[in-house]
Amino acid sequence: MRALQGHFMKQEDKTLPLVEHFYSFQGEGKFVGTPSIFIRLGGCNLGCKGFNVHIDGITGCDSLKAVHEERFGSSWKKIDDLVPIINSHLKNLDFKPDIVITGGEPLLHYQNPILLKMLDYFVKRGFRITFETNATIKIDFENYTIYKNVVFAMSVKLKNSGEPKSKRVIHEAIKAITENTKLSFFKFVLSKDDLFTKEIGEIISCFKDTPIYCMPMGSTSYELSQNDKAVAEFCIANGYNFVDRMHIRLWSNEEGR
Ligand code: SF4
Repeated sequence: MRALQGHFMKQEDKTLPLVEHFYSFQGEGKFVGTPSIFIRLGGCNLGCKGFNVHIDGITGCDSLKAVHEERFGSSWKKIDDLVPIINSHLKNLDFKPDIVITGGEPLLHYQNPILLKMLDYFVKRGFRITFETNATIKIDFENYTIYKNVVFAMSVKLKNSGEPKSKRVIHEAIKAITENTKLSFFKFVLSKDDLFTKEIGEIISCFKDTPIYCMPMGSTSYELSQNDKAVAEFCIANGYNFVDRMHIRLWSNEEGR
């Protein structure tokens, strides 16, 4: 694999921070409802306080345990091989589920040889692999060509994240993904208060051929119900795809779901 051949292994590349792994179904976006193995990696380059989730006195998003290394990093496992971890789920299945790499921001680790080895192994075996990303990290697709064979669910952050636009909307990073992959898409989590801005239109204006999926904000079924109809109407009016967040509808924010 070209990506591995040219890569000089740094000390921090000898392990990969794994927050959790589990088998469930995809609750969001284009492949909603698909049986999927989830790999959650630690670390994020943003710190979205606007989503107002509170754990142990820290404010952030619903993936806070994968974001806040100082507080939660001691529970992250430093792994040196991802293949057997995914195979431990596959051994009970006689079909190919999707593999979803999420975070935090998993593309922080996109050059890590442990991640590249896993991609090479499962892409060759015909698995569909999706990275759930905030699309702020520009991938070098020429030197890391394996990424042309995966899907990116680009959850570009909006003003409601609380992060400045200069950090959360990186056009070159989005452009690299849309130009080098076939099935990638945008997904936005929206509350009814977010629907009056022109933010989404501005972000996608240069990427009109990339599908857009909008979902209601909320970490419980009740909270989703406060936003779902307004977001659905917004999608109908703008020609975007509406999807629910099925894992939250069924299990709220329960871990391992
Ligand atoms: S980019 Fe995603 S994972 Fe990172 S802090 Fe924001 S919402 Fe959380």
